[in-house]
Order: sequence, then C-alpha cells, then structure tokens
Amino acid sequence: MSDLSMLINGLKVTAENHAMFERRNPLDGSVATRAPAASAADAVLAVEAAAEAFKSWSQTGPSERRALLLKAADALEAKTPDFIAAMAAETGASAMWAGFNVHLAAGMIREAAGLTTQVAGEVIPSDVPGSLAMAVRQPAGVVLGIAPWNAPVILGVRAIATPLACGNTVVMKGSENSPHTHQLIIESFQDAGFPAGVVNYITNAPADAGTVVEAMVAHPAVRRVNFTGSTRVGKIIALTCAKYLKPVVLELGGKAPMVILDDANIDDAVNGAAFGCFANSGQICMSTERIIVDQKIADAFVKKFVAKATALPLGDPRKPDPVVLGSVIGMSTVEHCNALIDDALAQGAKLLCGGKATSTLMPATLLDHVTPAMKIYHEETFGPVKAIVRVNGVEEAVACANDNEYGLSAAVFGGDIARAFNVARRIDSGICHVNGPTVHDEAQMPFGGVKGSGIGRFGGRAGVHEFTELRWITLQTTPRHYPF
Ligand code: NAD
Repeated sequence: MSDLSMLINGLKVTAENHAMFERRNPLDGSVATRAPAASAADAVLAVEAAAEAFKSWSQTGPSERRALLLKAADALEAKTPDFIAAMAAETGASAMWAGFNVHLAAGMIREAAGLTTQVAGEVIPSDVPGSLAMAVRQPAGVVLGIAPWNAPVILGVRAIATPLACGNTVVMKGSENSPHTHQLIIESFQDAGFPAGVVNYITNAPADAGTVVEAMVAHPAVRRVNFTGSTRVGKIIALTCAKYLKPVVLELGGKAPMVILDDANIDDAVNGAAFGCFANSGQICMSTERIIVDQKIADAFVKKFVAKATALPLGDPRKPDPVVLGSVIGMSTVEHCNALIDDALAQGAKLLCGGKATSTLMPATLLDHVTPAMKIYHEETFGPVKAIVRVNGVEEAVACANDNEYGLSAAVFGGDIARAFNVARRIDSGICHVNGPTVHDEAQMPFGGVKGSGIGRFGGRAGVHEFTELRWITLQTTPRHYPF
C-alpha cells in the first residue's frame, strides 16, 4: 500500500507539513489507506487552482466538455477491479456493491456528458419595444463537492460530474472513510485529460473536517456547495453556507418506508424488501428502514421474508466467495444497531432473525411488531437491522409512512395499481416507487428529499438548475424611450 496524494492544479501533492491520516479496514483493523491530512491552507490552494482554471474551462464549448466526460466514464469503468479492492479494504463493501457503484457512476458521467448541450436558456417576451430579453444559464464558478463513503463511487461522481458539464470547476473533498476509493474517481478524470485545476481533490483527517470545509465555503470563488451525508452534519454545513450566503444542495439521511398493502403480491414484496433492506448491509440513504405491512397479509409476508433474509450470504468481501452482506463501516454502527435492538425488544418487539452482532459482520436482522414507542421506529439504523410495523388499512399505512422526520425515498406495493399510486401520491418524500424497491437511482432522474432528508436535486436537468446561474440579459435593438 502506497501513500495517497491530493490533486491541486493538476499536480499530485501532499498536505502542509506532509501530515497524513490512516483509514483502517473495519473488519480486521489493518491499515487500508494512508492519505494526506489537508490543512485549511491546503484547501484554499485547491479552491484557488479551481478559480484560475474556471477562467478558461467556463469558456469551453459543449463538445469539448462532453468528449472529456465520455473519456472519464471509460477510464472509470476500466478501474473496476481497483474500485472493488479499494472499497473492500476501506469500507468492507461487497464486490457486488462496488461493481454496481462503478456501473451507475459511469452512467452518471455519460448522462452529464449529454447535459453539456442542455445548459440552455429562453427568450422571454418583454414589454419594452425592441428589447430582446433572455434568461441565460451560465456556469456558477467553483463548486465544492463533499461526498460520503457508503456509495462512494456514485456519490463522489455525482458531486462533480454535472457541475463540470455545466462549465464549473470543482474541488472534491473525499470521505475520511474512503480516500483511496474517491481518489480513483479523480484519477479517472485525470486519465481522461481534464486540464489542470478543473478537477481538484483534497482529503482531511476526521478532526479537521469542520475547519477545512469552512475555509472553502468562505472563499469568494466558491459559488455552489453540494453535500451528501448525515442530517446532523448537513445542518452544520447549511449553517456554514448561510453564514457566507452560499447556495447548497443537501442530500441527507433517510428512513425509507415500504408500504405493503393488503392486495400486494407477496413474492414481489419479499424480493423488493430484501433488496431494499439489505443491499450494502442497509448502508444506503434509500435503504428500506421501515416495512409497513397490512395486518391482513403480515404473517404470510413475514414468513417468506424471514426465509429470504436468513439465506443471504454474509462474510469478508476480500475472500473469493461472493457475499450480499459484507462488513459494515465500523463498530459504531454495530453498537448503534445493538442499542436499537435492545430498546425494541425491551418494549415488546419480536426478533424474527439475526440479532445483536459482536463484529462488523452483521447478520440480516428483522424486528416485528415495532411501535412508535421504540427508537428504531424513528431513527436511521444505517445497518442491516430493520423494523416491521403492522397496520390496519390504507389510512394507517399512510399516517405511519409520514410519521418520520425524514423524506427521501419510499415504496408502495399493491395489486390495485391505481390504489397503490394514490397511496404513493400521499407519501411525503422526494422519491416513491410503486411495486419497486426504495433503493433505486438512475442518472437522469431528479434525486433528492424533503423534510430532514435535505434540499435540492441532483440528476438530469434538475442538476443543471442547481449548478448554473440563471441570468436575465437584455439586448436593446431599437432606440429606447426614457421618461426624462
Ligand atoms: P457524515 O455526515 O458523518 O459525513 C459526511 C462528511 O461530512 C464527511 O466528508 C466529513 O468530513 C464531513 N463532516 C463531518 N463533520 C463535519 C463538520 N463539522 N463540518 C463539515 N463537514 C463535516 O455522513 P457519513 O456517515 O459519511 O454518511 C452516512 C450518512 O449519509 C447517512 O445518514 C446517509 O443516509 C446519508 N446519505 C445520504 C444520501 C443522499 O443522497 N441523500 C446518500 C448517501 C448517504
């Protein structure tokens, strides 16, 4: 394992005073990565490089940006084995999850490449004779992207691809938990030939995150911030951005409900629930966190779901046998989930499978008869520990689905499609799928949440709106009349 470097102005650099930090494998504690621990001054250098590069990058035509993005997508895919190894070492993720990450992330870069010709405006009728009035979208400036570890390739790419397509330059701040995985993204953009300073990368020790982030948000050249991570840190970032009046896209936590109506196809619901609950061991912002099932079919659903959940392979993702459940990110997840299990059982929940874990290899765990009195009803587990809530009828199901501080993704399963659709319409979330899992993302879709799940949207043209400035520009084509 060699030491990582940051990328500032096209150069691989160390941090001030060569400061480093370590990321250890969550399963055996071996050192996975040694990465530069940036200071606030390093972070400012990255912003200044991006500001300088913005002068020419913002003037490039769409074809030039599109060609580079398409090359970056190919370069990213070519690194698939490196991503699989880096994610297993740094985050304990399965090869299946790592491969899916690269696949979707490459699609996101290609979608961004297509967006280069969609940074469009409009001509708006003016009441001033001879005035041609336009609403013009143009690049905003330097975009700061802050990405987490849990879907590191998808979310790292999402933080920078559309901003670049719009003609902005970027500084990406990698996660302390996956600095190597995030660096591989940056290398893909370098391999593609992006000019120096257009894409910059910094990494920081966990204790320095606040200082490093504030130094960049405060810099006048930074004109947009995007953050994907927890609601707790999202609120801190929102306050920092408010202090410096910087627009911010916040993609935060979730507690996705999956509503199973009394006429749902049980096998479809079981498959959707298993995928939604246990992909990446439940460490996805869209993970199904609450299964809200109609009492009439609850027993039949639960029986089949338990059989499926207990059969999911669990193990060290670095070994050859494929697994669905790898290691979770750290013992803090284990301790958090164990406490939620204790609390639920003490208040009458029934453990159907799995249970408290003693290592980061956590089994698929289901708790039935969960009620609002239990912490797991409200709090994100961000692990493979899931709550089943039994309800009577549609009204109770909708009330339960909305009884939460979050609102990112949701799902409704039902045989009467019109009824299921009308339930979906009443759920307070940014995303909702009828007869599909809560975990679902496509590059061209507007992705984002409501309530505690954040502000703003990534994906497709919604992303163009977030990362461009909309200006009103007029052209007076005839002599203008003035009142004096
Ligand atoms: P986290 O909020 O703990 O950390 C994310 C980032 O915040 C890191 O890069 C860290 O350096 C930075 N940070 C920490 N303290 C900071 C501070 N004081 N000031 C500025 N920055 C600071 O999140 P995590 O544990 O890495 O990720 C998991 C969370 O992310 C979950 O809650 C999950 O639901 C959420 N998430 C949301 C989405 C989405 O699209 N909505 C996607 C994935 C994950």
